[in-house]
Amino acid sequence: MLDVRGLRKEYKRHLAVNDLTFNVQPGEIIGLLGPNGAGKTTALRCIAGILRPTGGEVFINGFDVVQDQARAKANLAFVPEVPALYELLTVEEHLKFIAMCFKRMDLFESQKETLLSRYRLSDKRNELVATLSKGMRQKLSVACALIHDANVLLFDEPLIGIDPEGARELKDEITRARDAGAAILISTHLLDTAEKLCDRLLIVQRGILRAQGTVAELREQFGTADQSLEDIFLSITAEDSPPVLSA
Ligand code: ATP
Repeated sequence: MLDVRGLRKEYKRHLAVNDLTFNVQPGEIIGLLGPNGAGKTTALRCIAGILRPTGGEVFINGFDVVQDQARAKANLAFVPEVPALYELLTVEEHLKFIAMCFKRMDLFESQKETLLSRYRLSDKRNELVATLSKGMRQKLSVACALIHDANVLLFDEPLIGIDPEGARELKDEITRARDAGAAILISTHLLDTAEKLCDRLLIVQRGILRAQGTVAELREQFGTADQSLEDIFLSITAEDSPPVLSA
């Protein structure tokens, strides 16, 4: 599971994430929503151990992502908004490299064909990443995240740039991982997808957690029964006051 406690991230004088506390239980998909610049990517990068938080703690399967990085990351997969791939490795070499890093060559052997075929990358298996289209890179990035069977999965805008067929596959994949017991956190601007895919939603604005709950709970707290998630999101984020940095 994922446990985030009082997470804070300052960039020089800018407070990007302010006292964020939430958890994601096994078998749960949480949607991280918020306007541009709300701090979603910053929060995900802190949780993934890529950025060092200014304050607070992140526990992945009980391990502190700063103090006990190797054990915290052992069962973590992060799909960034912009795929971080190696231009001079082929598609299949990527899957192999990631599986080797996580010491899961067994999964490389058993899962590679399924993943390559699911993301329509089979005929590109021997191509260098440099030759792939943007959407293909995104799909490879997802396949790399899935090859080592992580039980905490982080996705930053995973559906951007992916074609409808790939998006359907990915949504099915995310649901399958949830049903198999993974704890999943997804940032997205796609409110329809968030409503269908996620069990609970977190709405952040200027780094602050403004609201959380199921869509029904958000409707009850912030809207009316007939309002769409878009209406509720817009009403929650209508008030926009800048964050204050402590001296
Ligand atoms: P979007 O929906 O547009 O992707 P986001 O919610 O992911 O936005 P972040 O990218 O986390 O937002 O940015 C949060 C805030 O932190 C923004 O005000 C942004 O300008 C600022 N920020 C992000 N990265 C840096 C950085 N490296 N240095 C300084 N400020 C940064």
